[in-house]
Amino acid sequence: MPSTRKTLVRQLFLPIGLTLFAASGVAGWFSLNSLKQSFYDEARRDLQVRAEIVRPHFASRLNSANVSKLQPLCREIAETARARLTVVLPDGQVLCDSHEDPARMDNHASRKEFDRALKNEAGFAIRSENRSGKPMMFVAVPVVVDGPVRGAVRVSRPMSEIDSTLQGVGRPLILAGALFALTAVALLYYFSRRIIGNIKEIQSGAERFTEGDFSFRLPLPVVSEFNSLSRTLNHMAVQLDDRIRTITEQRNEQQAILTSMVEGVFAIDRDETVIHMNEAAGRLFGVDPRFAQNKPLQAVVRNTRLLAFVTQSLESRDLQETDIELDWEGQVRYLQTRGTVLRNTHKESIGAVFVLYDVTRLRKLETMRRDFVANVSHELKTPITSIKGFVETLLDGALESPEDARRFLGIVSKQAERLNAIIEDLLSLSRIEQDSDTGAIVTQECHLREVLENAICDCAPKATQKGIRIDLDCAKELIANVNPPLLEEAVVNLVDNAIKYSDPEKRILISAAQSSGAMTIQVRDEGKGIDQQYLPRLFERFYRVDKARSRQMGGTGLGLAIVKHIVQAHGGSVEVASTPGVGSIFSINLPKNK
Ligand code: ADP
Repeated sequence: MPSTRKTLVRQLFLPIGLTLFAASGVAGWFSLNSLKQSFYDEARRDLQVRAEIVRPHFASRLNSANVSKLQPLCREIAETARARLTVVLPDGQVLCDSHEDPARMDNHASRKEFDRALKNEAGFAIRSENRSGKPMMFVAVPVVVDGPVRGAVRVSRPMSEIDSTLQGVGRPLILAGALFALTAVALLYYFSRRIIGNIKEIQSGAERFTEGDFSFRLPLPVVSEFNSLSRTLNHMAVQLDDRIRTITEQRNEQQAILTSMVEGVFAIDRDETVIHMNEAAGRLFGVDPRFAQNKPLQAVVRNTRLLAFVTQSLESRDLQETDIELDWEGQVRYLQTRGTVLRNTHKESIGAVFVLYDVTRLRKLETMRRDFVANVSHELKTPITSIKGFVETLLDGALESPEDARRFLGIVSKQAERLNAIIEDLLSLSRIEQDSDTGAIVTQECHLREVLENAICDCAPKATQKGIRIDLDCAKELIANVNPPLLEEAVVNLVDNAIKYSDPEKRILISAAQSSGAMTIQVRDEGKGIDQQYLPRLFERFYRVDKARSRQMGGTGLGLAIVKHIVQAHGGSVEVASTPGVGSIFSINLPKNK
């Protein structure tokens, strides 16, 4: 589309140039006209003077009788006066003429110049001459002798002579005028170009500023107005650069804070379009935060509870808070969500910002703690109830029968032992947990075989009781970086279980091997084994496959939990493989550097 805007040249230079030309033309025309007028006036005065000088020569000869003498005189005087000379009588009859034969000339009384001269005034006329048709200037003066007008003398010159003198003066004048106009226009053009040059320089500088190049500085022109404009623009560029730098730094800081935040943060406008979403929020919603930008929130988040909360927060004035459950990679995550309205400088609502705290771990810990307390209470309650019952029975009279008393006290003692075992296991568990949390577990390089032999030694009485043989397969030179008492406790727990859940005369094999730096200790038995379905929960506290049998065996349900915590404190893992009726294999995997 062609631009409808006019350039400065068209706006400024063309009109002024044209005006200059027109003004020069008009001034020239007027000057030439007045010059012409004054030339004609001068010529007229000149002709009148000549006529008046000539007049006395004819005053005494003015009658038709002297015609033959007058004609040569007329020619002679005309030659001296360098003009045409005509003399008429009062009736208009031509008496003599320097250029014509008077006999052939008609009556001149009606000629304008003669008409006035015969009325005793100077007459003047410019017109074409009758015969030749050439334009002439005529001046006639009366010839008065003793009062009345006796005739008139006329002097005339061709206009071409007068005009040629005029042209001699007028031509340089026109030339000078034209030269002046041209110089003025050239100067005007030069200054216009300079002004336009300055403006273009400022314009291109301003364009660079709009493109964000604030390091550019406009050159300072000589013209003071442009100079101060350029200075102002340069100053503006410095200020803008400063401000943009500050804003960018602030934005980067905010971005860095938001990105590094563990809490999910997202902001929306009033139409629920995402303005910003940080990495943590993106992770929770399973989207790339850059993809979420400028998308409707409904397209990013599917959780109806959260969407409803967002709408509610947008409509509310105060901080809103709620708990939301979110499906996240097949698991449920609990989000404590806070939303507050965003306001602009006029305090108008422009959207809302939301912070999501992932409290899943806290929730799980709370649940675990609750379950644990319930389990401990339950575990402790059984032996205490039993002890209380038997003590009451004894007090109620059973003491009288020494046989019953001995039996009941035996049971009380067994239950007390059970209580003791549970409390000791709990204390052990909490100590290991505490030490592993605070990093207080001290490891040292030791011969693994010695640790395993000590564990076998601890279990030997029970094994011998059941006729169970414990074999050890561990190279003497095997060195492990472990906490020996804790690892011994873990192996004892595993061997103890192997003895408990194996029939008499069976065999238990403890083996240890190292492969690519990592250490594996296995406790293999030929016991009753564990059904596959129980394996995932086997290492939980108080979990037992067969509660009655476990209790009967003096188990607390904490042995494997203790093993798991000890191994985890070493940075390792524990696993089990079992086949019912064949036996079980418990493996402790210790990492390379432990
Ligand atoms: P408990 O004190 O009951 O033995 P543990 O935590 O040591 O508690 O073991 C949890 C449960 O795992 C036991 O009750 C038992 O059912 C099962 N279990 C552990 N070790 C073995 C094993 N070697 N063979 C068969 N079952 C076992």
